[in-house]
Amino acid sequence: MKFGGTSVADMERIARVGRLVAAEVAAGKRVAVVVSAMAGKTNELVAWTDAAGAAAPGLAPSDEEYDAVVASGEQVTAGLLAMTLRHMGLNARSWMGWQIPIITDDAHGRARIDDVPGEKLGAAMDTGEIAVIAGFQGVSRSGRIATLGRGGSDTSAVAIAAAVGGQCDIYTDVDGVYTTDPRIESKARKLARVSYEEMLEMASLGAKVLQTRSVELAMAQRVPLRVLSSFVEPGEAPGQGTIVCDEEDIMEKRIVSGVAYSRDEAKISLFGLPDRAGVSATIFSKLADANINVDMIVQSHARSEGAANMEFTVGRRDAARTVEIMNGAKSEIGFADLAVNEDVAKVSVIGVGMRSHAGVAKTMFTALAERGVNIQVISTSEIKISVLIDAEYTELAVRALHSAYGLDKL
Ligand code: ADP
Ligand code: ASP
Ligand code: MG
Repeated sequence: MKFGGTSVADMERIARVGRLVAAEVAAGKRVAVVVSAMAGKTNELVAWTDAAGAAAPGLAPSDEEYDAVVASGEQVTAGLLAMTLRHMGLNARSWMGWQIPIITDDAHGRARIDDVPGEKLGAAMDTGEIAVIAGFQGVSRSGRIATLGRGGSDTSAVAIAAAVGGQCDIYTDVDGVYTTDPRIESKARKLARVSYEEMLEMASLGAKVLQTRSVELAMAQRVPLRVLSSFVEPGEAPGQGTIVCDEEDIMEKRIVSGVAYSRDEAKISLFGLPDRAGVSATIFSKLADANINVDMIVQSHARSEGAANMEFTVGRRDAARTVEIMNGAKSEIGFADLAVNEDVAKVSVIGVGMRSHAGVAKTMFTALAERGVNIQVISTSEIKISVLIDAEYTELAVRALHSAYGLDKL
């Protein structure tokens, strides 16, 4: 059972989580609970690290100490929930990432889980003890506290389920995975089932209901995964939530299952590049060396003979660094001008049915054209189409596409 930030936002909600956990235990289940920090806590901790950085300009930010600070929110909620369960007469204890241990690589701030030896935890659970685990955190091979990237408690939960051989229920502030973010489109519908592949695309294209890596891990380790609401009392009709499963296990065939959006994008344009072999290799090697992920890429011929233009997108937090790197290599790459646009958003439609149906792109481009939304960049894969648009039109585009594919009538 994993509970997100809004589900443990105060003592009243932690008490309700305690009741939900107790009900599972009473039903004879062996339970491990993974908790996030209280809603807003991680943002507050990140802001403290920014403040510490600002106080020492010129010094490199210390990623290990960033993690030492931001991992603390989960320590508090794990302790409080274990305490609450004990007060209810249950046998429970808290576990920090290093105590299990959840072993990660050294990429502080966005560490990957390498291994979770389940023996110690499993043995404790075998004695009937409820394990209450701090999500989001682990310990690196060099022995330092490491965090798993924003939203990482979902991944902690799937890793724990895989380690102790269980299923993973993600309790959150919505009662399942919807056709799009219900905060943007009130007509969004809950999906009874969604395939791992579609959920992976939805998560990586911006639907933050599950962290992308948690879906990747569940898919690889065959962990049964479910998303459901924590805002119910035990015994109340809980609803089935959404089951994330294999495509074969889904009866109803949809062409498009969801619409996702992301405002974390920035577009970089390079004008007047030499039109010859090796230019793209130089540009993207420089970015790869700096560990900057590039998403969409388009290259086009410029009007003048022998010249080309290139546009690509990077995460918004990498935009300034990208510009710096490109300008630093201006003569080597040979471009004339550079522009950066941070006022962009990526809107995507996702569905496994696209593999076998024509006309999905036409529907998307027509719906956007009818609302006067201009498309700057397009990218596709087998089961998704993404467009980059002016950020101002994000909501409009999400709603237009949601209705164009009939998702409000599912
Ligand atoms: P938690 O704190 O429980 O981890 P998150 O805020 O990380 O919760 O994720 C839940 C939120 O994800 C919802 O409140 C919702 O606004 C958002 N969301 C975005 N896309 C979707 C979607 N397709 N289905 C459900 N929720 C979505
Ligand atoms: N508390 C962490 C975050 O806000 C991890 C999580 O909520 O999953 O990113
Ligand atoms: Mg989350």
